[in-house]
Amino acid sequence: MSKKNKADMYLDMVALHKEVTGSCILCTVRFPSREKVKFIVDCGLFQEEKYQTSNYSFPFNPGELSFALVTHTHIDHIGRIPKLCKEGFNGKTYTTKVASELMPIALNNTAEILSSNIQKNSKKKSIVESSIPVFDSSKPLFEKDDVESAMENVIGMEYNKPFRVTENIEVTLFKNGHTLGSCYILVKIFYHGQEPIYALFTGDYSPENKFFDVDSMPKYLKDLPINLVTESTYGTTSKKIIAPIFKETVLNSIKNKETLILTVFAFGRMQEIAYELRKLQDEGLLDKSVKIYSDGKLAHEYNDFYNSHKNGLIVKDFLPKNLIPVLGYEQRNELLSNRDCKIILTTSGMGSYGPAQVYLPYYISKPKCSIVFGGYTAENTLGRKLQDVESGEIFNLNGIMTTKKAKVYSTTEFSSHAKQEDLIDFMRNFKNLKSVLINHGDSLVKEAFAKKIIEELNPKKVAILSPENYIRVGAYGVIKSYPAVDINFNITT
Ligand SMILES: [Zn+2]
Ligand SMILES: [Zn+2]
Repeated sequence: MSKKNKADMYLDMVALHKEVTGSCILCTVRFPSREKVKFIVDCGLFQEEKYQTSNYSFPFNPGELSFALVTHTHIDHIGRIPKLCKEGFNGKTYTTKVASELMPIALNNTAEILSSNIQKNSKKKSIVESSIPVFDSSKPLFEKDDVESAMENVIGMEYNKPFRVTENIEVTLFKNGHTLGSCYILVKIFYHGQEPIYALFTGDYSPENKFFDVDSMPKYLKDLPINLVTESTYGTTSKKIIAPIFKETVLNSIKNKETLILTVFAFGRMQEIAYELRKLQDEGLLDKSVKIYSDGKLAHEYNDFYNSHKNGLIVKDFLPKNLIPVLGYEQRNELLSNRDCKIILTTSGMGSYGPAQVYLPYYISKPKCSIVFGGYTAENTLGRKLQDVESGEIFNLNGIMTTKKAKVYSTTEFSSHAKQEDLIDFMRNFKNLKSVLINHGDSLVKEAFAKKIIEELNPKKVAILSPENYIRVGAYGVIKSYPAVDINFNITT
């Protein structure tokens, strides 16, 4: 095969997102016939304020896409699929079977939030559960009807079974520990007389999950010449620096007869932390008479989902004994007025949304209270603010001067993202790594992680995916990069 032929077929990739929000990779395949096929991997909502305007339009024509692939159902990976369909995408969206069942839960909740944000001037303040920005627009990005029509073209596929998406593109989904129903995705691009191009997209990746077994990678996959598109959220974080504090903090707080507030994300973290409490009960360390409450409508929906999918899970019974769901305003107010020792699991994880907006401002000034943030808290969230204020300091909380008397902790021990060692280990699986394209990380993290990969694995090429450049790969790895002037125009920072 001549060298010229090698470049006759290639795959151009560009990320619409700079960092870890609004995940979407636009892929364009050019076949030797000069035919082009476009597809995307994930289509997330930009949740950070600074990227708000990026949600309104796509820097490509959605009608030109042949298909979409979805790695998992976090909103920053699927939140713009209804919008994509509204704007003319009428191909199929492929994901796992479980993810296809989870998608309507997540998207309908987002539709509700988007609508309630639009009606933000109405007197009734609603409690919404995740960090969806308030859009400065008179119409929501999409509504429940749009979710329904988008879902008509979502197809849930089995793990490990290749399926054809176009005449010359085949896709396989592999189990991933990041969330229930998540996958990493192999795309095989083939054409008569050409070496196939293999691209593998990690999505958000974790090698393990408390609720299900993650299969080891099949041997045939390890042997393929892979162009790997990897996430890098914790690409510079070593597992060694994460000190677990959760168990000790819970037990101390209960020993001191406090109110313990645990903020959780509705999907995944709620179930994981509930299960940690259940284990403490089962081990006899946490007395079953201590009342445990859970608050968050969406979290309760996900709890039910986990319970209804028990057969596929290794943990069948994860909720603490005598867990009491908080079902509304009155019950919540009653809780605030009682001084009993108790545990309250509440959404949202970062504290700025959901019922945490009620609990945190109340309990932050109570000395007999501990607050644990069970995951990452972004800048400008209530969670971050309460952590940054010094203990005993008087500060302005939504206009009311408040003294921080509660003890505030945060832990990343429950993170569902691989750390640096896990990501490097994942890459070591591939005996024939042609290139590594780094994606889904802060800009500085992506570069530092790239250097680490070069030191540890020395693949043929390492590149950084961003909205600034197209990265072109072929069967033998990275061919070149060139400026994505057509993509970059609506990225505001
Ligand atoms: Zn995710
Ligand atoms: Zn993500």
